Amino acid sequence: MTADAALAGLLPRRARREGRLEVPHEAHATLGHVVQAAGIPLTEVGTLLLDGSAAGPATRPPDGSAVHVPPVVRPQPVPAGGFLLDVHLGSLARGLRLLGLDVSWSPDADDATLAARSGDEDRVLLTADRGLLLRRSVRHGALVRAAGADAQLQDVLDRFRPELAPLTRCTACGGVLRPAAPGEVAGEVPEGTRRSYAEFSRCTACSRVYWRGAHSRRIEEFLARWAGASPPRSG
Ligand SMILES: [Zn+2]
Repeated sequence: MTADAALAGLLPRRARREGRLEVPHEAHATLGHVVQAAGIPLTEVGTLLLDGSAAGPATRPPDGSAVHVPPVVRPQPVPAGGFLLDVHLGSLARGLRLLGLDVSWSPDADDATLAARSGDEDRVLLTADRGLLLRRSVRHGALVRAAGADAQLQDVLDRFRPELAPLTRCTACGGVLRPAAPGEVAGEVPEGTRRSYAEFSRCTACSRVYWRGAHSRRIEEFLARWAGASPPRSG
């Protein structure tokens, strides 16, 4: 089996440099099984090649056949339900919510629950844990391989190219924000803040109040940097 450079890092250490691995398998094993047995979740692969021809993951490769594994084609569509993040990606969840994306994240969801919810709620499961993506029950998933919330955010935006709507969602719960009049939030915002800002909003799910402050400038700067650094959208 050979893997493109983008995926070679997922192979066992001894096979990484050449991106080539012999995978002994039972006669009835499917292509998908063989690829996952090499440590590469199917969420990370494009169209598999079996002896040079495109083949689906349910194909049973004959003994001695050559399998080539290309990376997933970017950009990928986001499933209708949006994103679902594992417990370790709280900072990334916050970043994606700041940009207005539909993100489900809770600090106590276990792996089995997350895997099931990716299908039940039609959400793409983002995780740095490839063992989680190797679970059969994961329907949509993406491996987050970058370190640090900023690099992870860049990678997710590059992989999915979702439509952004900055400052339209609550970073705490992911709920949608609605505009709120200054008079309405008077008792909930420090007086200095109320004098300095004219635009307020409230989360329709948890009632938290937001105002346009320093962090909206940081988002605009981030988006400008990202737009400058990313290749033009194809397709
Ligand atoms: Zn909220």
